[in-house]
This record gives sequence, C-alpha cells and structure tokens, in this order.
Amino acid sequence: MTDKLLTGQRALVTGASSGIGRAVASALADAGAAVLVNYRSSQEDAEQVVRDINQRGGKAFAVQADVASPGNCEKLFGALEQKLGGVDIVVANAGVQRDAAFTEMTLDDWHKVIEVNLTGQFICAQEAVRRFRLQGLDPDRSPALGKIIFTSSVHQAIPWAGHVNYATAKGGLKLLMESMAQELAPEKIRVNAIAPGAIKTAINQDAWETREAREKLLKLIPYGRVGEAEDIAKAVVWLASDESDYVVGTTLFVDGGMLLYPAFREGG
Ligand code: NAD
Repeated sequence: MTDKLLTGQRALVTGASSGIGRAVASALADAGAAVLVNYRSSQEDAEQVVRDINQRGGKAFAVQADVASPGNCEKLFGALEQKLGGVDIVVANAGVQRDAAFTEMTLDDWHKVIEVNLTGQFICAQEAVRRFRLQGLDPDRSPALGKIIFTSSVHQAIPWAGHVNYATAKGGLKLLMESMAQELAPEKIRVNAIAPGAIKTAINQDAWETREAREKLLKLIPYGRVGEAEDIAKAVVWLASDESDYVVGTTLFVDGGMLLYPAFREGG
C-alpha cells in the first residue's frame, strides 16, 4: 500500500464542527493525518465529524476549546500531545461574523470579531510555534518543523461595506501571516493562508440560500458557481503537505475568480 500524502502527520483544525473546518478535518484525515477536531460549543456535531472519520478508517478526536482564550488554547495543544503525541499541522479556521452598517456596529460586535478572527488565530499560532520548537525537526516525518495555515478570506483584499470588523480582522490576518512567515521560515516553520471566496456554509447562508441571493452572488464569481467547503479542503491538504514545501508566506485564493474585479467585465 502506498503512503497517503499526510501519512504520519498530526493536525489540529479549529472550528471544525461545521462548514469549512469540518471539510478540512475530513480531507486531512482522508489524506492520512491524525486529526484533532476542535469545537467551541457544538459537541454533538464535532463528535459526528469524528465518527465519520473513524468509520472511513481515519483517526480523529474532538476537543472543546474557545480559540480566543489563551488557557483554552494551551489545553488544546495539551490534548494534541496526549492523544496524538504532538502536532505538525495547524489549520486556524475558527471564525465569526457580526455584520452591521458602520455607524450601527456596536463595540461588542467589533471586539467579538477581532477577538476570534484575529487574536484567536494569533494565540493558537503562538502556542503552535512553541510546541513545534519543543518537538524539534524530524526529517522522517516532514522537511518542515511545522505548518500553520490561517483561514483568511477574499476580504483580506476586497473592502466589505457593512462588515468592517470582519474585513479588518482578515486584513490584519494577512500581515500576521506574512510577518510570522518571514520571522519563522529560517526555523523551517511554514506559515501560509488560504483565502476562500463565497463558500456555502452557515456563516453566509443569507448570501446563497434563496434564488435571488444566489443570482446576485454569482455576479461576483467569474467561474459561475458558489464554492463548496470541499474546494477549500482540497487546497488545504496540498498546503499542509510536503508537496508545497517551498510555499512560504503565501495566500492561496480559492474563490472562483472573485478577486478579478468581475464588475469590470462590462465597462471600466
Ligand atoms: P462556520 O460558521 O460553519 O464555521 C466557523 C466555525 O468556527 C464554527 O464551527 C464555530 O463554532 C467556530 N468558532 C467560532 N468561534 C469560535 C471560538 N471562539 N473558538 C473555537 N471555534 C469557534 O463558517 P465557515 O464558513 O466554515 O467559516 C470557517 C472560516 O472560513 C472562518 O474563518 C471564515 O471567516 C472563513 N471564510 C468563510 C467563507 C465562506 O464563504 N463561508 C469565506 C471566506 C472565509
């Protein structure tokens, strides 16, 4: 039997009880990684993800933690050590939206989104780097000491009216990722980001649920379809694997061409 792309790798996916995180956890496991499925409150859903993976012959565990809490993150990495013997891949995926017009946005909405989507990613990544260093490089496992993949968004580049908290967090994540990559590459830690376009999940249900909403959304997607969580998961598997060993500090946009300013097709 030939080894799978991620055989022997140990992965953490945050916010993995739903949407993109769930698809990423499943795809990493199908590629041979042992996976820790983090969830904040949906224990039942997280356990279902684990059951599905185990039924397909993979290895997974569910662990509750709020990624915006340093204590919880430590607990998460402690569980990785205890259950999987360490960690090689961290997919920092947890995220929230609290949308409002600029002057209607409460300070609580602002803080909540920055706290989870930016600070939470920082806390998790910091703990990951500490753990990678303690583990040391094992060339039989991977040429990299560790791999961190942030889940950003096309809105790290495209301004988004009515979502200033979200766009600010994702814009910040871009430079967090790039600055970390620059600082940590000499230690063979690869830091990258995946930037989804419009993907059918609970976070943006309003944007694809009805026919009218879908038609409006499709005007923004040159490739002519709304994305599926699996579109992101396949790209994450590659970014997490040694096939992308020379990819450092890059944002991989998986967006059906959303970033191509489709409004300029006619006119401009
Ligand atoms: P989702 O709502 O299904 O997933 C978000 C997950 O994060 C949920 O499982 C939620 O419980 C978890 N979460 C929230 N706060 C948490 C916390 N404090 N600690 C731990 N987990 C927490 O939506 P999704 O679309 O799958 O979103 C996943 C990521 O993808 C997010 O970072 C989101 O910003 C990003 N993204 C999504 C889209 C899209 O179109 N769906 C586009 C671009 C980026």
